[in-house]
Amino acid sequence: MNQYWSRRIRDVVPYTPGEQPRDRKFIKLNTNECPYPPSPKALEAIQAAAGEGLRLYPDPECLELRAAIARREGLDISQVFCGNGSDEILAFAFQAFFDPEREVVFPKITYSFYPVYTDFFGLGRREVPMNADFSDPIDLLCGQNGGVVLANPNAPTGIAVGLDTVEKLLTANPDVVVIVDEAYIDFGGDSAVELIGRYPNLLVVQTASKSRALAGLRVGWAMGDPELIDGLRCVRDSINSYTVDRLAQAGAAAAIEDERYFQSIRRRVMDTREHTEKVLKEKGFTVLPSQANFLFVSHSEHSGKELLDGLRAQGVLVRWWDKPEIKNWLRISIGTDKDMKALVKALCELI
Ligand SMILES: *Cc1c(COP(=O)(O)O)cnc(C)c1O
Repeated sequence: MNQYWSRRIRDVVPYTPGEQPRDRKFIKLNTNECPYPPSPKALEAIQAAAGEGLRLYPDPECLELRAAIARREGLDISQVFCGNGSDEILAFAFQAFFDPEREVVFPKITYSFYPVYTDFFGLGRREVPMNADFSDPIDLLCGQNGGVVLANPNAPTGIAVGLDTVEKLLTANPDVVVIVDEAYIDFGGDSAVELIGRYPNLLVVQTASKSRALAGLRVGWAMGDPELIDGLRCVRDSINSYTVDRLAQAGAAAAIEDERYFQSIRRRVMDTREHTEKVLKEKGFTVLPSQANFLFVSHSEHSGKELLDGLRAQGVLVRWWDKPEIKNWLRISIGTDKDMKALVKALCELI
């Protein structure tokens, strides 16, 4: 902080991204990336786009990419918006749909970017305590509020809610926008996309970063009523019209069209998750039921920090938060079977 900073950023506590080590020795299970490479068709499309055409701006409306998403999801292109990762879309959505004098509500334990956005954009917020089993406190998200944000499946717990629950939120909050952040939906949850025609207050946000193995390309998309999509466009075009570059548009569209590859990598991640969960439980760990590409894990006799540091010393990176409710928990991304074997071995050394 210094004298030149605006008042707006003086009080902000920004989001802390997971560590991206430069040396490659670590088994990296800390940022929920996919352990498998992107679709070969996506890589070909990116290479084909890396040519003379780069002297031109990209299509600000991302028409081909939106068409690929709309086709896959059975939507109209007017119901789809694309952005530079879903984080950017969430930032646009908070600005497009929420107001300072009304409280945005979300669960207390969820994606830690949400409170950063409410602070940064000067919005009111109410964080609702979790149920005792770490499931989402749905009833408490239904009262008076200025908007609702729900990660489904939730992060870092991995717990998903059913579509009946999402519908309950939409019906109970008809006058505000309900954002459903589906970053992890492809690993077992039910997508709320099928509710879009019926609920004009629903915005579903997804990403190419996790289930399509393209975290490095930075592409996300939102789906909802065309008027909500226009709201996002209004914010974007007040900041930067060209947020998704030519390589990203081409690569993401090809990845979305390669359904077979997508199905094979998400299946592998889910199989590895089921196996790892079983083994960790046999070793005495508590593991929450996950529908995501990570597990939320604790052990009754060892603190989260102790396990985090012990794993790091053995070359395994996982994620831990210094928050009272989840101090004794680790979020462990699902890697390859070999990665997870090394993780289990390292954890067993510590207990
Ligand atoms: C990873 C993640 C995102 C961000 O994804 P990007 O598209 O890479 O910006 C959004 N929401 C949740 C809950 C996530 O875990």
